[in-house]
Amino acid sequence: MKKAVYPGTFDPITFGHLDIIERSAKVVDELIIGILANSRKKTPLFTIEERLHMLQESTKQFSNISIQVFDGMTVDLARKNGASLIIRGLRAVTDFESELQISQANQQLDSSIDTMFFTTSLEYAFLSSAIVKEMASYGTDISLFVPKPVIAMFSQKFPELVS
Ligand code: ADP
Repeated sequence: MKKAVYPGTFDPITFGHLDIIERSAKVVDELIIGILANSRKKTPLFTIEERLHMLQESTKQFSNISIQVFDGMTVDLARKNGASLIIRGLRAVTDFESELQISQANQQLDSSIDTMFFTTSLEYAFLSSAIVKEMASYGTDISLFVPKPVIAMFSQKFPELVS
């Protein structure tokens, strides 16, 4: 039974994340998506409940996926769930440098847990939660970049932006 965790801030989930979820769920028996509650690098726009809701609604079609909220180290999330793999996505060289460092640190913390990288599908190479939030803040149509539940959440939270 191969279990993996896919950690992230998911603020909000995009088609880039969904692509990694779909591809990694095909190579493991069980995929646990971990939503990092308190990201130190940025203050999330969406609350943990909102991010959880958007992820749940956007991944209903997958039978071997579950979602957990966590805080702290990814290796602890993996250990707690008996997972031996951490999934991460790589878009550009800029992702590579920090991801390499994080995966090596995790390897030092627990050598039984490996990181598996999925390179982005070309159509999503530019896509990030940050760019989606920027576009949405100007009232731009984001339907090409995020699943429907995210659009619904933006409309609910920022009705003034949606025409
Ligand atoms: P974090 O704050 O941990 O980077 P994110 O939610 O921004 O959380 O990203 C979670 C993971 O998804 C990261 O490994 C990131 O590289 C990956 N990811 C995000 N967007 C894309 C994309 N468009 N294509 C491939 N991977 C992506």
